[in-house]
Amino acid sequence: MSPHLPILREIFGYDAFRGPQQAIIDHVAAGGDALVLMPTGGGKSLCYQIPAIARQRAGQGITVVVSPLIALMHDQVGALHEAGVSAAFLNSTLSSEEASDVERRLLRGEITLLYAAPERVTNGRFLAQMDSLQERGLLSLFAIDEAHCVSQWGHDFRPEYRGLSVLHERYPSVPRVALTATADALTRADIVERLQLESAELFISSFDRPNIRYTIVEKKDASTQLLRFIEREHPEEAGVVYCQSRKRVEEIAVMLCEAGIHALPYHAGLDTAVRQRHQNEFLREEGVVMVATVAFGMGIDKPDVRFVAHLDMPKNIEGYYQETGRAGRDGLASDAWMAYGLQDVVNQRRMIDESPAGEDFKQVMRGKLDALLALAEATDCRRVRLLGYFGEPSTPCGNCDNCLHPPQVWDGTDAARKLLSTVYRTHQSSGHHFGAGHTMDIVRGKKTEKVAQRGHESISTFGLGADYSEQQLRAVMRQLIAIGALHVHTDDGFSTLHLTEASRAVLKGDVPVQLRESTSQRGDKRPRTRNAPAPAAANLGQDAMVRYIHLKAWRAEVAKEHNLPAYVIFHDATLAAIAQAAPQSLSDLQGISGLGVKKLEAYGAQVLKVCKD
Ligand code: ADP
Ligand code: ZN
Repeated sequence: MSPHLPILREIFGYDAFRGPQQAIIDHVAAGGDALVLMPTGGGKSLCYQIPAIARQRAGQGITVVVSPLIALMHDQVGALHEAGVSAAFLNSTLSSEEASDVERRLLRGEITLLYAAPERVTNGRFLAQMDSLQERGLLSLFAIDEAHCVSQWGHDFRPEYRGLSVLHERYPSVPRVALTATADALTRADIVERLQLESAELFISSFDRPNIRYTIVEKKDASTQLLRFIEREHPEEAGVVYCQSRKRVEEIAVMLCEAGIHALPYHAGLDTAVRQRHQNEFLREEGVVMVATVAFGMGIDKPDVRFVAHLDMPKNIEGYYQETGRAGRDGLASDAWMAYGLQDVVNQRRMIDESPAGEDFKQVMRGKLDALLALAEATDCRRVRLLGYFGEPSTPCGNCDNCLHPPQVWDGTDAARKLLSTVYRTHQSSGHHFGAGHTMDIVRGKKTEKVAQRGHESISTFGLGADYSEQQLRAVMRQLIAIGALHVHTDDGFSTLHLTEASRAVLKGDVPVQLRESTSQRGDKRPRTRNAPAPAAANLGQDAMVRYIHLKAWRAEVAKEHNLPAYVIFHDATLAAIAQAAPQSLSDLQGISGLGVKKLEAYGAQVLKVCKD
């Protein structure tokens, strides 16, 4: 038995370690360095919290947790307090008295886990305090959370993370554990190099999140599609909707509110105070939908986010996977839903082209975008592709749109050739490049003003694709851009199409173009599959349900009193298990998952009372 299992049971009230947690915890507690790659919701926190507790108990002193998420430190520390662990944070939200108080406790070695932002950890004053602890043998461990922030290849690059190499240089004997939920091979190598983790043990978990169902739909009227998705699949449930721009965030939030959904906007253009308020509301109240830019979400550990929707396509698979991973941390059935269209492809390509970055960097970004486009266009299992991207082989999952409803495929090769040769001929005859709309008009034989003006009726492909619907041609166009057989060039806001090296193979018919038949949204409520457990309370009988509802109301009061999110007090699943057990005495509560010694002591009597009443 691991010497750390008793801590898991006593402090956190959990029965057994998950996946590689035990191996990681044993290694780190024994003083080894580690790089931990685990998907969101995999249980990374325990991988440093339990070693921190074990080492503090052994007299080895404090663990410093580096985290970029100032706004969340309060709740993270609150959760540890609830479990009876001595924890604190140092950041700019503290008054100077509060900060001095934390520093005093720190220097006395009374704190087990100290959370701080990277800029704090690397400043002179803090390092001097670390020196003092180190001299007295009270500097136990460094945990570097969200370690991908150190890499410019990661999607959340934070220059302050670069300074963290000082930790190893200054305290070579203090072990370090770096953790992240996303790192492709390039990012991983960068983390190792930047943080000098060459001799750290690497722990890679499966990246699969089997309870999340992946769905990517063709974008038609995105906001209506979103509204229908929420109303049909997730009424009254918490979710996150990601949009590209601030303006769009505002519009969508208003649209959802008007439809009676409790939605809030979140983006970098809002006041810090407003952002914090919205974040708190999302964390503390039930059933809030956060409409946000990518500025929102890192470190949000709300366990019952039931869906993550993308109204615009992210930049790459790492970003997409990180964002969708915020759904269903509690392991219960959740959705990752994205609407994707031609404009997304064009926009993302344009953003790369127009960025001031160097050509090498752009090349890497294009490669990453291509992988995401291939995922969006895929007609086979989404999960197999996602996991494959992170180097993990798998078999079709049965819990993504393509597995559940295999798409009809049609052969778009002929349409693709007509589009490409139109691009070729219009350029050849005039020396100009044209956009997607005009090109499709020519292929479909539409006599628009522009067609007449340019004399493009005489192009030999004019009207050759009159049998294709506009939607079909759009799909072909999207795929041609996605596979790099067409390049979109943007100048002064005008996008034009250019042939590429890859165009030739398609023109010659060497590369078949397979497309998914565009389907209208299915009206049926989709059945949950066996690997997607139902929500926490789904299996409760009538009496248990009544207890559950009363327990939730009680929890809401406690959470409010403690100024913490409800799930920090107890998860839904823990409340459901209590309701099911119909406890008569404290001993009936023993062994319920999520109920550690401290919580039993603090809340046991109240919980019994609620259940009896
Ligand atoms: P991550 O940081 O990897 O996204 P967390 O550390 O927030 O994940 O853990 C996700 C959820 O799983 C949390 O609610 C946590 O309490 C729970 N959890 C972690 N380890 C275990 C375990 N061994 N048994 C039961 N629940 C666990
Ligand atoms: Zn699948």
